[in-house]
Amino acid sequence: MPDFSLELNEEQLQLQKWVHDFAEDVVRPVAHEWDEREETPWPVIEEAARVGLYSFDFFTQSFLDPTGLTLSVASEELAWGDAGITLAIFGSSLGLAGIAANGTPEQLFEWGPQCFGTPEKLQTAAFCVSEADAGSDVSSLRTRAVYDEAKDEWVINGTKTWITNGGIADVNVVVASVDPQFGSRGQASFVVPPGTPGLTAGQKFQKMGIRASHTGEVVFDDVRVPGRCLLGGKEKLDEKLARAREGKKSKSQAAMATFEATRPAVGAQALGIARAAYEYSLDYAKERKAFGRLIIENQGIAFKLADMKMRIDASRLLVWRAAWMGANKKPFTAGEGSMSKLYAGETAVWVTEQAIQIMGGYGYIREHPVERWHRDSKIYTIFEGTSEIQRLIIARAVSGVHIL
Ligand SMILES: Cc1cc2nc3c(=O)[nH]c(=O)nc-3n(C[C@H](O)[C@H](O)[C@H](O)COP(=O)(O)OP(=O)(O)OC[C@H]3O[C@@H](n4cnc5c(N)ncnc54)[C@H](O)[C@@H]3O)c2cc1C
Repeated sequence: MPDFSLELNEEQLQLQKWVHDFAEDVVRPVAHEWDEREETPWPVIEEAARVGLYSFDFFTQSFLDPTGLTLSVASEELAWGDAGITLAIFGSSLGLAGIAANGTPEQLFEWGPQCFGTPEKLQTAAFCVSEADAGSDVSSLRTRAVYDEAKDEWVINGTKTWITNGGIADVNVVVASVDPQFGSRGQASFVVPPGTPGLTAGQKFQKMGIRASHTGEVVFDDVRVPGRCLLGGKEKLDEKLARAREGKKSKSQAAMATFEATRPAVGAQALGIARAAYEYSLDYAKERKAFGRLIIENQGIAFKLADMKMRIDASRLLVWRAAWMGANKKPFTAGEGSMSKLYAGETAVWVTEQAIQIMGGYGYIREHPVERWHRDSKIYTIFEGTSEIQRLIIARAVSGVHIL
């Protein structure tokens, strides 16, 4: 096991610079435009694919990194450029994570590359869990998958909502109930291959922030997928259902296994937004004058910046710890994955608001990016588990009590 170090090694520093340069040169200059257009920034994704950032290879290398820091470092830098575009680029990795968390190595290598396609023919992926009546409460999913034994096919019916890349994705990973009486223990994940009949796009949502990232509904109407699209395979599912029937705990739950793996990287994106806002407002405070002096000379402003920096650094420590623990298969006995996403998400909302306050009227208008960063930051307390759900996970883990 590699020693934990707070100093990035040579390779990690290179990666950090590579992604930072991409964020600074390619992402930031067009961030405002794509936010206003509220569309998927295909030319930026294409450029990310060309340099290798949007690729199956990049994510497999990240997952294989024994320190776990690759994805956190890259996510922070890219989101420093723009969070909406980061989600447009990294959104497909959610589908990939769904395959990696629940699928066999063969399934990962069959479907993983298809989540990204090639720079010449981009493809995208989506991870479809949430439904109109089941967001935090994933145990009550209504989407059903029924096995047609004669044809060795699964038939999927249901509607998923608020899905990143939902309706535009080529590869859809869907979590469905195969035996509703067992709640989340009766669920399984399936890959729906590109072009499968019966899968259609529902409405596209207009959002407060991360507007360069597409969020929409996905409708499954008698969608038939071959048996080999059941992630993990039939034998594993039958074992899991047998355990559920005997009243035993399941070893893993399809949606939860994915979120556990992705939370630190999502927290790292929030961290990137917070850092961007902190740096921007620090520079501003050192230039703006009021009452004949620089505004930073007032403790009221300088102390805000001190607190912003402190919370950002604390977020990074939590993110790196969780990423390192995840990569080294250390169990999150105190909900450390949740802590990282919770603290970084709430820090991003708080820091971006402070940045607006420091900049006064200039902070509130669209001429400067801080109002966008504030809008973008809010989603980090909602998706991949709300702040309340993260607190629930931590509280249950540390107390051993089934807190409601
Ligand atoms: C932009 C965007 C992108 C998204 N991308 C995806 C995606 O790619 N794939 C996907 O599957 N989903 C996605 N989601 C869905 C997202 O994960 C859910 O919105 C989220 O989990 C919350 O579910 P909900 O909206 O149903 O809220 P609810 O579960 O209805 O919660 C409403 C409120 O009640 C609180 N609450 C609920 N239960 C409890 C409890 N037990 N204790 C205390 N408080 C509680 C919540 O914290 C929240 O404050 C996305 C959402 C958005 C907005």
